[in-house]
Amino acid sequence: MNQQDGSIASSPTPEPHPLTDEHPADASAEKPFVWPTPRVPWSDILGQWGLFDVVARLGSHVVVFSVVLMLALAWRQWGVAPAANPAGAAQAAAQNATQATPTPLPVRLTPFPPDSTPPIVGITRRVQMKTELPNRQRMKVVEYEVKPGDTLSSIAERFGLKVESIFWTNVDTLKGDAHTLQPGMVLLIPPADGVVYEWGEDDNLKDLAEQFGTTPEEVLNHPANDFDPVAAALGEVTIEPGTQVFIPAHNLKSIDWTRITVFRDKITRSFLSGPGACGDIGYGPIGTYTFIWPTTTSWITTYYNPSVHPAIDIAGSVGQPIFAADNGVVVYSGWSPYGYGYVVVIDHGNGWQSLYAHMSQIYAGCGQEVYQGSVIGAMGSTGNSTGPHVHFELIHESYGKVDPLQFVSPP
Ligand SMILES: [Zn+2]
Repeated sequence: MNQQDGSIASSPTPEPHPLTDEHPADASAEKPFVWPTPRVPWSDILGQWGLFDVVARLGSHVVVFSVVLMLALAWRQWGVAPAANPAGAAQAAAQNATQATPTPLPVRLTPFPPDSTPPIVGITRRVQMKTELPNRQRMKVVEYEVKPGDTLSSIAERFGLKVESIFWTNVDTLKGDAHTLQPGMVLLIPPADGVVYEWGEDDNLKDLAEQFGTTPEEVLNHPANDFDPVAAALGEVTIEPGTQVFIPAHNLKSIDWTRITVFRDKITRSFLSGPGACGDIGYGPIGTYTFIWPTTTSWITTYYNPSVHPAIDIAGSVGQPIFAADNGVVVYSGWSPYGYGYVVVIDHGNGWQSLYAHMSQIYAGCGQEVYQGSVIGAMGSTGNSTGPHVHFELIHESYGKVDPLQFVSPP
């Protein structure tokens, strides 16, 4: 900077600025360019070839160019630019025009825009009215309070995640049902697709990682998880039960979501007592409030009667599949001494239980999480039965045993 100021100030007349000067070398070539003395052999050679002047000129071009370049850099670096407001710049320009004094550098270098000017044309930023995506990747799990009008999909979209990541991360809060979403509910938002998982006592990192298509190393080293990096590298991390762990998922479609446990806010147990009763259970998928026909045949042999037969009997053949009428958890699985034979009771977590009796085989054990349509056993004729059939009951905690035909129809 000082160099330039000095050289320009010492000029007897206003010297055209290098930027606008057509022949900047002419002036400087007059005097100061001091090349090595002619004694130096190579300058002699240049002289012989008549090239000395050319080289000297070229050299001075280089010098002038460097000066301009330094000016430009200094400009950008220290912001000696004219005031960003155009009025100020115009005023300065007008002043300049009326004065015959050397031009102040900053005003002459107007080609360089102030930093606030959009520098590049052609790259535009997409307008995102509702996005909450930060500029850089979010690395931590955050909380989000549901607002009126939100849906799981809109929340997922807002955070750039798949809806499964939001649903399964918050499956307990949502009680396994996306319809329970309501304003004021606080959801956990994972930093990427995958789930925030509350570590259980029996959980195994290798199995869980495999289930989500990732590796134990990736889980341990993910910035969302605050594990000691040294211990993680050595594979010596102990995850305390109750710890919230983010498990990234690379292929959401391949995940067996049914293996994720849904915790309920109420402990449940089978309405039916007996050796097959499972005891208290505090987890399991929540029902959809709809039921499906529990087998493949539609031959009803005994209808509902509240005092004599509070169920329907659907006849078929031994071995035909029996389906869970809705999502839930098995709360009774085994023999019943009260005539049901081999029987399964499912608690649907919404006030409903369903019972399937006289099975030849039971495929669903105590505590098993089942979904609408899961095969839970095979038709049989065990217990007080005169032929292969399923005795199907629907029991509500307030209404008792209701007529199943009010809720299901034969296929
Ligand atoms: Zn029956």
